[in-house]
Amino acid sequence: MLQVSAQSHIASETVINVSNLNHYFGDGGLRKQALFDINLEIKAGEIVIMTGPSGSGKTTLLSLMGGLRSAQEGSLQILGQEMCSASKGQLTKLRRQIGYIFQAHNLMTFLTAKENVRMSLELHEDYLQGDINAKAIAMLETVGLGNRVDYYPESLSGGQKQRVAIARALVSHPQIVLADEPTAALDKKSGRDVVELMQKLAKEQNCTILLVTHDNRILDIADRIVYMEDGQLKSDGVDIGVKVN
Ligand code: ADP
Ligand code: MG
Repeated sequence: MLQVSAQSHIASETVINVSNLNHYFGDGGLRKQALFDINLEIKAGEIVIMTGPSGSGKTTLLSLMGGLRSAQEGSLQILGQEMCSASKGQLTKLRRQIGYIFQAHNLMTFLTAKENVRMSLELHEDYLQGDINAKAIAMLETVGLGNRVDYYPESLSGGQKQRVAIARALVSHPQIVLADEPTAALDKKSGRDVVELMQKLAKEQNCTILLVTHDNRILDIADRIVYMEDGQLKSDGVDIGVKVN
């Protein structure tokens, strides 16, 4: 059974703890190592930005942290739970505790904005007791889309779709948000708006954010910037000191 090491979690408030993590794609002669000996610790409430060239392993690392693929070798502890060699059930349980924001927003095209946001609450039994419609609408109002709740994604702009994705990721108050190039498809202004919104909501909800980006214009929202290259974490953190708010 899964053991939650509550003690160490409270003492250090470490929510993500990666040590000596390796990852491989393919089998036999086609086996290729994508991650090499990754070590990284992220504390509760931290906003960490990960940068690095395309193909350096950022998405692979994020998908392991989010339980979207199984960790193979080394140790990957998320919220005190070891994810290396975790069962499907454990991965599923983990996924419900995490909010995801991807570049291609991945909204359900046949659901309205409200229904997309509501869907993420439907995964949580404790929310089902309450009025999930009202919660979804309130969250959309927070991201400035109170007047678009019944719109389908095709009738929303890129920035608006990304806001729906943010609302969907944050509505269930996850302890961790993983965002993979969330501003890549947005113009400068909407990109900036979207990350500032994530930052604000995360600080209000005290959640940890790990955000992959190539976008130099948003680096200042981070508490720490980490750098990946060729499957290796070259720097586990430039502490950029006082935050610009
Ligand atoms: P990044 O997100 O930094 O651009 P990725 O994590 O997507 O990098 O990719 C890291 C490396 O792993 C690349 O060499 C990529 O080709 C390889 N890779 C990623 N996903 C897969 C996959 N599903 N199967 C095989 N190789 C993959
Ligand atoms: Mg990627």
